[in-house]
Amino acid sequence: MKFDCIKCGECCMHIRGNLPEEEKAEFQALAFGKLPIIQVISVRDMSFPIWNFEYKQIQDFLEKNMNKKDYEHYMSMIKPARIIFDLNSNKTLIVAHCIMSDECVFLDKKSNNSCKIYDVRPLVCKQFPFQSGPLAGQKVYFGNCPANDKLEFNDAILQDKEKMLDIYGESYLAAAQKDIYMDWVNRTVMDLFQAKKLRPAMNYPYPFLMKRYEMSEKILFTDFLVDVGFMTAEEVEKQFAGIKNNKDAKKELGFE
Ligand code: SF4
Ligand code: SF4
Repeated sequence: MKFDCIKCGECCMHIRGNLPEEEKAEFQALAFGKLPIIQVISVRDMSFPIWNFEYKQIQDFLEKNMNKKDYEHYMSMIKPARIIFDLNSNKTLIVAHCIMSDECVFLDKKSNNSCKIYDVRPLVCKQFPFQSGPLAGQKVYFGNCPANDKLEFNDAILQDKEKMLDIYGESYLAAAQKDIYMDWVNRTVMDLFQAKKLRPAMNYPYPFLMKRYEMSEKILFTDFLVDVGFMTAEEVEKQFAGIKNNKDAKKELGFE
């Protein structure tokens, strides 16, 4: 049994609001000002997260491979999605961006549903058909995918790491890698808070928070870590390199 993508493009055509109902409810209840990480676009408009290292990779790729007009067009479609508002510095730290369109702007329908940024596509694209990875502490589940629907599963297979790697290859590792990155972000926010290098706005009225967010200076979360001396630029780069080749996931799953 092997997962074999048929390149139908379905997973790239409906990226907006495409969240499992339980995740939507969770975001709705918690993500609009009650936690340090704040959602700044509606659940309905949300597409998949583009983490800081992915944003930088995509920006760099577009700069090198597109003309100025296309570069500006694509970059204008990628907006901040999850932020932290720091009361110490009055800066907005952007934790994740997302693409503001129903169909992914990078889907090339004229070319067999290929991806225009394939080499730097986000982890969430690499992990599909997984919606939830094996390390997130919840049940592994899948998005809508006709190729995956043909495979037959039982709990024993889902929990068998070797078997899952055999069936899904890099997608399985990317799903685990995304879990690790999200966990790292959450832990780092707590560590920054405890080290008094960050004072996240919490429990503020959402419209008030949005006003402050709109007027504030914006900075990528990982750049902020370097600015406040929490990590060096080299340490951040080293971590990004580990994510690119799923090094952390292989280690965590016991394949290395
Ligand atoms: S929905 Fe599934 S089969 Fe279709 S392109 Fe995406 S991964 Fe491939
Ligand atoms: S970035 Fe590429 S792989 Fe990801 S949704 Fe867009 S077209 Fe699909």
